[in-house]
Amino acid sequence: MERTTVLITGCSSGIGLGLAARLAADAARRFKVYATMRDLAKVERLLERLGGCCPDTLEVLQLDVTDPRSLAAAAQRVQGQRLDVLVCNAGVGLMGPLETCSDQAMKTLFDVNLFGAVRTIQAFLPAMKSRRAGRIIVSSSIGGLQGLPFNAVYCASKFAVEGLCESLAIVLRPFNIHLTLVECGPVHTSFLANLQRPDPEGSEMRGLDAETQELYRRYLWHCQSIFRDTAQEVEEVLPVFLEAIGSPCPPLRCASTQLLAPLWRLRLSSPDGSAYVRAMHDFVFGGGEAGGDQP
Ligand code: NAP
Repeated sequence: MERTTVLITGCSSGIGLGLAARLAADAARRFKVYATMRDLAKVERLLERLGGCCPDTLEVLQLDVTDPRSLAAAAQRVQGQRLDVLVCNAGVGLMGPLETCSDQAMKTLFDVNLFGAVRTIQAFLPAMKSRRAGRIIVSSSIGGLQGLPFNAVYCASKFAVEGLCESLAIVLRPFNIHLTLVECGPVHTSFLANLQRPDPEGSEMRGLDAETQELYRRYLWHCQSIFRDTAQEVEEVLPVFLEAIGSPCPPLRCASTQLLAPLWRLRLSSPDGSAYVRAMHDFVFGGGEAGGDQP
C-alpha cells in the first residue's frame, strides 16, 4: 500500500508536534511524515514522543515559513516524493490593547500567520496541481471567524487566512485539491506562553487610559479562566485533522470545539454585527458594565 505523504509546519511543539507524532506512529504505517520546524535544536520533544528514535515513517526538515530560502530547500527535499497533504500549522499570537502593539510585532505576526501560510502553499501547490490531487489543511482559529477582545491583530491575521483559503478553495475545486480550515478554540500548547502580550502593570501600559487598562486586566482574568475550564488537550483536536486527511470530501471548515458556536451563529444571523459585539462584550466583561449596554 502506498503511504500518504504529509508535510506539517510548526512541529516543534503543540498541535504540529502532536499531529506529526500521531501520524508517524500510525500502527498500520499508512503515512510518511515530513515534520518541519524552524529550529532543528527543538527536535528532541518530537523524538521523545516517539520513544526516543526517528522511525522510517518520519523525516524532520528545517522550515521557517518567513524565510523563502528555507521553504525552497524543504520543497526541493520533498520534490519527486508526491506530497498528498500539506498542513500549514505554524502560528504565533499577539495580545493586548491595540495601542500597545508595535509595528514590528504586528508585521512579524502577519509574516508568520498570513504570509507564512501563503508562501508555504505557493511552494507546494504547483506539484499538487500538476498531479490534480492533494489536500491542504490550515490551522485556523475561532479568532478567524469572530473578533475577540484584545486579540485584534491576531484575529485580523486569522480572518485574512480565512479569506485566503476560502478564495483559493474555489479555484482548486477542478484540480481535485481539497482545502480545509481547522477552527481551533483554546488548546493546551505553548501558544499562550509564547504569545507576545504586555504586562498589565508594565511600562507599555503607561499612557494608556485607565478604562482600557482595567478592561485588559479583566480580559486576562477571563482568558485564564477560559483556558483553565475549557481548553482542549492536543489529543482532543487531532481527530479533526485526521478526519480532514482521511475523508474523501472534507469540508472547507471544521471546528475542534463548540465553545463559541452560539456567538458564531449570532454573528451569522445578525449580519449588522451589533448583536455580536454586545454579546461578546457581555460574555467577556459581564453585562451592562463599561459600555455593555450601549447599542
Ligand atoms: P505552539 O505550541 O506555540 O506551536 C506553534 C508552532 O509554530 C511552533 O512549532 C513554532 O515554532 C511554530 N512557528 C512559529 N513561527 C514559525 C515560523 N516562522 N516558521 C515555522 N514555524 C514557526 O502553538 P499551537 O497551539 O500548537 O499552534 C498551532 C496553530 O494553532 C497556530 O496556527 C495557532 O494560531 C493555532 N491555534 C492555536 C490555539 C491554541 O489555543 N493553542 C487556538 C486557536 C488556533 P517555535 O517553537 O520555533 O516557536
